Formats: sequence, structure tokens, C-alpha cells
Amino acid sequence: MSLDKRLGQRFLPYGANYLDWSDMHELREAIEHAVLFRYQTEGESIASRLERRVAQRLGARHVLALHNCTEALRLALISTRPRTGDLVHIPAVTFVAVAGAVLSSGLIPVLVDVDDSLSLDPALLPPGTERVIVAHMEGTVARLPDGVPYVVEDCAQALGARFPDGRHAGTAGYAGTFSFHHNKVLTSGEGGLLVTGDPAAWATMRCYHDHGSARVPGCYPTWNADAHYGENFVTSEGVAAIQFQQFRHLDELLAGLERQHAIAMDNLPDRTDLTVLPRAAGDVKISLRFRWESRELRDAAVAALTARGVANWTLGKYLLPEHPVITGRRSLYADGFPWSLAPGRPLTISRDGFARTRDLLDRTLCVPLSPELSEQEQILAVKTLRQTLEAV
Ligand SMILES: *Cc1c(COP(=O)(O)O)cnc(C)c1O
Repeated sequence: MSLDKRLGQRFLPYGANYLDWSDMHELREAIEHAVLFRYQTEGESIASRLERRVAQRLGARHVLALHNCTEALRLALISTRPRTGDLVHIPAVTFVAVAGAVLSSGLIPVLVDVDDSLSLDPALLPPGTERVIVAHMEGTVARLPDGVPYVVEDCAQALGARFPDGRHAGTAGYAGTFSFHHNKVLTSGEGGLLVTGDPAAWATMRCYHDHGSARVPGCYPTWNADAHYGENFVTSEGVAAIQFQQFRHLDELLAGLERQHAIAMDNLPDRTDLTVLPRAAGDVKISLRFRWESRELRDAAVAALTARGVANWTLGKYLLPEHPVITGRRSLYADGFPWSLAPGRPLTISRDGFARTRDLLDRTLCVPLSPELSEQEQILAVKTLRQTLEAV
């Protein structure tokens, strides 16, 4: 990797920079024991150790390791024992997995408009709202609504973030979900975690994620007389081992992001047509989020950064009211389930038909920070960024 390339842009997704054979003790152990199924290990499984470790690190009461965050969202929703067709309020700006998790649980997503920070605006929730998914996008901690019985915090992009009161994102609502997909804070390629403070909810989740069973590790599963059906979301020891290795680097990674964010905040171009969206102390500084005065300037900045080899992205892809999964109301079920349970209902809440949100998204540009770079390299990368943005 040439220095120029390294300085220009982050060269691997965050956690992937910390994958290293010399650090793969748990994976070696799993291979040496030749057991990759968590309920067949001698002694405590790596998956259980991971869950304990996460509980300790995040201050979470109960943790369940899963294949991915989408499953975690589904499991969180189903564990609330909804009726089919119940509404789940979700942000109008987020990854489509959130809507998919709602629909595949037999529930109906209602898209709620976002505030200036692009997080769900709790003031728009109607009285009596029962279920909300709040997504902490790009590490920006969103406000949680008061008085809603089931608030699920989607922390797929916010592992390690904290609320102003110090609690970790994911531990303040009914449940929190995390992703270890390739592009998230930490990565095992695919992987997920579900956390909850409610012991009864955790027991339900654990049961559903293992065929509805009350399995004792080391044994064939058993089913109580009042068992309900389930699915198989049980993680693999191989994946849990890599997640465990990744967790060892979380603090170092967060510190690297903080450091480059601070360097950038002191060295950005002074233009009246460009602002940087503020980040709170507890946010994970995954990116710099810029807002331009016009879409034309934003597009020019995208072109300039891309030509210079500086990684960047825009957020229009997250506008769910225009996503085909939502607009088409299609389903693989012949009767259109679960959309068929909400015929003709308006499933969006916005003050202005998302006009302001569309405008904000059109003018927003994100540039990732690079925690793996040394301080000197980060300084040089910020300099490149500054020069490029000044010339737009
Ligand atoms: C990535 C992502 C998900 C889905 O996570 P997977 O682990 O890929 O299933 C859900 N919500 C948000 C906000 C995401 O960014």
C-alpha cells in the first residue's frame, strides 16, 4: 500500500484493519478442539465468553450472539409478542434491513421523518405508539422517545457509542442490536448481537433462536410442554471467536477515530457554504458529515474527492419512502402478507412529505475517518481533505 494511497483514504473497513493471525487465539482454540457448534463444546463456549465480555464492556444485562443484526432486530420484535399486522415505527432514513426485519416478522413499518441530525424525530410519534426502532446511524446517538413500551435501538453502525448520561447505545431501550458485517465498526464478515435488560425477554429470545428449545449445553435440545416454534439463529464458534478478537481492539479503534475527528475539526476549510454536522462526545466518530449549501456544490465535492482517491459517500440510498421494497409493497406471499394487513393505510409520518429530508440528504456528504492510521498520517489525510474541499 503506497503512502499516498494510505493517506488518501481508509483502505479497509474499520475492524478489518485489526484482523491479524497473531491475535486469533480463540479461533485457534476452536479449530484445535475441532468443535464449531457452541452447544457442543467442552467447558464454556467461545460464544458464551463473547456474550459475557460484551455484557461487561457495554454494561448490558443479557447478550445473545447471532448471525447478523437483521436477525437480531427480528428477534427483538417477535419477543414482544405482537399481533400480526401491528405497526412498528422506524426512521425514514436508514438501511432497508430495518424495514425488512419488521415485514418479515409479520409487522407493518411506519416511516417516521428525521430531524436535522438525520435521526428519527421522537416528537412525530403519535400517542399510543407501542413499538419503535431507533437507528444510531454512522455512530450518531439518536434521541429515544419517552413512554413507548418497546424501543429497539439499532446500533449496527454505533458499537461503542454512549448517551450523554454515559450509558452505552443499545442498553437504554427494550433491546439493542449490533452488526459485525464487513462494513461496520467491528467485523466478522457477518455476525450480530442482541442485548436486553429484561431477563424474561432474553429467555424468550434464547428459546426462539434455538428452535423454541430449552437446550442445556452439551445435550440434544429439549422442549417444554408450553414450547413455541422457533428458528435457528445459533451462532458459530468460528464467528464468535473472530468477534471476540475484534472486541479486543474496540477501544483502540474508537480512540483512533476520536483523534482524527479532533484533528479534522481544527483543520477544515473555512467556507460559508459548508458546515460540518456536530458530533456529541459519546458518538462514534465514523465519518465527517458535511452539509453543503446546494446539491451542485455537494456533487462537485463528491467528484473532487473521488478524483483525488478520497473515500466518500452520500446518504440518498437510505431514504426509505423512495425505496422499492417500500413503494412496491410486494411480498413473496400470494396474499401479499403482511402488507395485506394494512390496506390503504398511510404508512408515513412527516410534516412536509419528506421535502426537507430529501433536501438535507441531497446536500450531505460523508467522509470516513481512519482509526488505523498514525497521528502523522491522519494529519496528512486531513490536509488532503482540506485542500480538496477548498478547491471545490
Ligand atoms: C448494516 C445494518 C443493518 C443490518 O445488519 P446486518 O448484520 O448486515 O444484518 C441494520 N441496520 C443498520 C442501520 C445497518 O447499517
